[in-house]
Amino acid sequence: MKLLLVGAGLSGAVIGRELAEAGHDVHIVDSRAHVAGNCHTERDADTGVMVHVYGPHIFHTDDEEVWSYVNRFEVFKPYKNRVKTTSGGQVFSLPINLHTINQFYGKTLRPDEARAFIEAQADSTIADPQTFEEQALRFVGPDLYEAFFKGYTLKQWGLSPSRLPASILKRLPVRFNYDDNYFFHRFQGMPEGGYTAMVERILDHPRITVQLETVFASADATGYDHVFYSGPLDGYFDYELGRLGYRTLDFERFTYEGDYQGCAVMNYGEESVPYTRITEHKHFSPWESHQGSVCYREYARACGADDIPYYPIRQVQEKALLGEYVALAEATSGVTFVGRLGTYRYLDMDVTIREALNTAQTFLAAGTAPAFITAPL
Ligand code: FAD
Ligand code: UDP
Repeated sequence: MKLLLVGAGLSGAVIGRELAEAGHDVHIVDSRAHVAGNCHTERDADTGVMVHVYGPHIFHTDDEEVWSYVNRFEVFKPYKNRVKTTSGGQVFSLPINLHTINQFYGKTLRPDEARAFIEAQADSTIADPQTFEEQALRFVGPDLYEAFFKGYTLKQWGLSPSRLPASILKRLPVRFNYDDNYFFHRFQGMPEGGYTAMVERILDHPRITVQLETVFASADATGYDHVFYSGPLDGYFDYELGRLGYRTLDFERFTYEGDYQGCAVMNYGEESVPYTRITEHKHFSPWESHQGSVCYREYARACGADDIPYYPIRQVQEKALLGEYVALAEATSGVTFVGRLGTYRYLDMDVTIREALNTAQTFLAAGTAPAFITAPL
């Protein structure tokens, strides 16, 4: 069959590869001048540092098949994400762990003591936390909430934590030991040559053609047996019902001779600091050596029509609009909506690859695929 894929990010690349290996002819278009979508990496012209152009990306998963999939196309170097945060004129370790608690309260608590101490700070009258704020007050109490989460979250989402769901904070653990690894997952790493090199290898197949700097229009689907679309769901329908809300990011680049902050990611918990974090990219490749350094201050704001959509907001009103777009998509034949934009969900890379593999498998088994393999709602 002749298949068209919109987007050469992880979704498009993995689906394309699977379908090409099964004997189909795959054509992929992407509006950008490079493949790999938001995971794109490139060397900084001034410093030679490998930069994660659309924000820092750390690969972490418990999915063995996905881990061996990415290792088939790129060497992954061991990498642990150890995030720091600046608040109240001090630097602390994240996610909240025993070091954070002892430093913050000027104590020398052991694990059981710390657990009891934090439980005493926490608001135990909140039985079933619904909002981000309730979740924070229930599990860490007001002091740590104010220092590390309240201001940061306000900056990141543009909404009070009392209006955000508890699920956002549930992504972060609280640990009563000195483990400062940001993620729990069994497999964690960083691609030695960057994500773009990995995606280029995934796409390197005689049955795949890639056309960059090409914006998809629905008329382009003519002549293809099926379309897999990893662009924005609302964009496919020319935003006819309105725009699904996203947060976008602005990156303010600066260079430094030497080591600017001593770590890859420094968060800023306070509202008075306008950016959420500073990333120093040479620390994402600790096996390389660079004298110069390139850093990015990261600012979050509402996403306008010409901005890159990063984080889906998914509040009540967005979910209502999403429901309407899902109905439109389900009434459209011959197109499967995939990936973080096509399904309007925040998806980590490993989940993206897992869903892409499942999508290809569904298509190969049935010779077609529905509008969604994973329901967006
Ligand atoms: P995308 O990468 O967005 O690819 C979609 C592609 O489609 C893009 O290249 C776009 O140009 C193209 N496109 C869109 N519309 C059109 C059109 N109309 N015509 C042609 N082309 C079009 N995940 C992790 O696992 N670890 C992390 O540390 C991590 N950090 C992240 C940090 C940030 C700031 C963000 C926003 C995400 C992060 N992620 C992380 C998630 C990761 O970026 C996604 O899992 C991944 O990019 C999803 O791939 P995708 O192919 O679905 O989407
Ligand atoms: N968060 C925070 N302070 C921090 C780090 C995270 O308040 O220093 C909040 C913020 O609302 C964020 C959420 O916790 O969206 C989840 O954190 P994660 O690191 O998963 O953020 P993301 O990947 O969404 O940037």
